Amino acid sequence: MRRTRIAEILAEEKIGAHYTVMGWVRTRRDSKGGFSFIEVNDGSSLSGVQVIADQSLGNYDSDVLKLQTGCSIMVVGTLAASPGKGQKVELKAEALEVLGWADPEIYPLQKKRHSYEFLRTIAHLRPRTNTFGAVARVRNAMAHAIHTFFQERGFIYLHTPIITGSDCEGAGEMFKVTTFDLNLAPEKDGEVDFTKDFFGGPANLTVSGQLEAEIYALSMGDVYTFGPTFRAENSNTSRHLAEFWMVEPEMAFCDLEGDVELAVQFLKYIFASVLDSCKEDMVFFNRFIDHSVIKTLEDLISQDFKVLTYTEGVEILKKAGQGFEYPVEWGSDLQSEHERYLCEKVFEGPVVLIDYPKEIKAFYMKMSQDGRTVKAMDVLVPKIGEIIGGSQREDDHDILYNRIKESGLNPKDYWWYLELRKFGSVPHSGFGLGFERLIQFVTGLSNIRDVIPFPRAPGNLSF
Ligand code: ATP
Ligand code: MN
Repeated sequence: MRRTRIAEILAEEKIGAHYTVMGWVRTRRDSKGGFSFIEVNDGSSLSGVQVIADQSLGNYDSDVLKLQTGCSIMVVGTLAASPGKGQKVELKAEALEVLGWADPEIYPLQKKRHSYEFLRTIAHLRPRTNTFGAVARVRNAMAHAIHTFFQERGFIYLHTPIITGSDCEGAGEMFKVTTFDLNLAPEKDGEVDFTKDFFGGPANLTVSGQLEAEIYALSMGDVYTFGPTFRAENSNTSRHLAEFWMVEPEMAFCDLEGDVELAVQFLKYIFASVLDSCKEDMVFFNRFIDHSVIKTLEDLISQDFKVLTYTEGVEILKKAGQGFEYPVEWGSDLQSEHERYLCEKVFEGPVVLIDYPKEIKAFYMKMSQDGRTVKAMDVLVPKIGEIIGGSQREDDHDILYNRIKESGLNPKDYWWYLELRKFGSVPHSGFGLGFERLIQFVTGLSNIRDVIPFPRAPGNLSF
C-alpha cells in the first residue's frame, strides 16, 4: 500500500499531481449536484484534505453516501485548486475504497466538542481529535528538539536504569518491583524478606536518573538522560503523574553559573524550535486553548532571564505587601504563588533563583562558603512557576558524607556515589526538567493528563 501523507500534499500544493491518500473521515457533506465533500485526516497535520467524490464513481451510492465520521478510506485522485473557502486545494477522487466502517450509532467521537474528562476514558480514540492530534505532534517535535539540542552540543545520550536499588533523594514515594506472590512472600523477623526476591534485595522504579548520570558525567564529560520516571505520590493534581518523562543533563567541569546558562539556552531552543516546526498546531492552541501561548513563548525567547539569589527573592516578596496564602520567611520553600509573583509582577519575565537554604534542598547540592546555602537553581516562568530545578553537585567527599548523615540517610547506601568524590572528583552540575510540565507550558493545556498519551495517576490505569 503506497500513500502520500496529507501534510506533504498540503505543503507542496502541486496542482495536477496524482495522489493516493489514506485516512479517517472527519465529515461528509453532500451537494445537490450529485457530489460529496469528504474531509479526510491522516494525523500528519492538523488540516485534513478535502476530497471531492462525485456520482461518476461506481460506488458513489453504495459507499460514498454511507460514509460517516470515523470511517477509514483510501482515495486515489488528482489535486486541484479549490474554489471554496477554507482550503486552497482539494483532491478530485478517481477511486475511493472504504477500508473500515464506523457505525455512527456507536462511534464515540462525533462532530461536537467533547470534554477532556470524557476523552480520557477513550484514550484509544482521542488522538483522532484536533487537540490530541496536535498534542501528539508537538510532543514529538519537542522530544526531537531536546535530542537535537544536546547532540549538537556534544552531549552523550545515556540510558539510566528504570529498576533501581536506590531511592535517589531519600524523598520520593516509590513503586516497589517484586516477583513475590504478595500473599505468600517469605518473612523474616515479621518483615518481608527481600533477600529471597528476584534481585536479592528491595527494588524500585526510579524517581530520577541523576545519581547514575553523575557516574557517566564523571567519565564522559557531558551527558543527558531522557526517560520515564515514577512517583507513587498520591497527589491528584493537574501537575502530577505517577509516570512521567524527565530530561536530566549532567555536566562535568561545570559550576552553577554554567548550569544556569545551559538551562536558559535549552528552554529558548526548545521554544523556538516548536514555534518553527509546529506552526499550525501552535496557532490552534493559541486560538482554542490559551490565547497567550505564542506570545509567552516568543517573549521568553527574546527576554533575558533575571538571575537573583533566593535571599534577594525573599526580601522582595516580604516587602511586596501582598496577601499570600503562604507567608514568606527566609528558610521556607517558595510556593508557586510566590514564584509567579516574582515573574509576573516584579520582573515581568522569567527568573532564575539561586543559592537556596540548604535545609530545603537535597543533600547532594554543593555547600556554599557561607555554610547556610547550597548552589541550587530554580528556573521560574510566568503562569507556572518552577519549570527546571538543578544544582552544582557537592564534589567534596567529607562534606557530602556529612550531608548524607544529616539528611537521615545511610552513607553505606551511597558508597559508589561517595567514591566518585574520592577518585578524580571534579566540579559538576546538572538539572532536571519534567517533560510533561514543559508540554503543558507550550500548549496551554491545564491538565497534565492531556499531554501524555496514556496518563498514569492514582486510581487510573485503564489503558
Ligand atoms: P513538585 O514540587 O511539583 O512535586 P518536585 O520538587 O517533586 O516537584 P523534582 O523532584 O525536582 O520535582 O523533579 C524535577 C521535575 O520533574 C520537576 O521540576 C517537575 O517538572 C517534574 N515532576 C516532578 N514530579 C512530577 C510528577 N509527579 N509528575 C510530572 N512531573 C513531575
Ligand atoms: Mn513532588
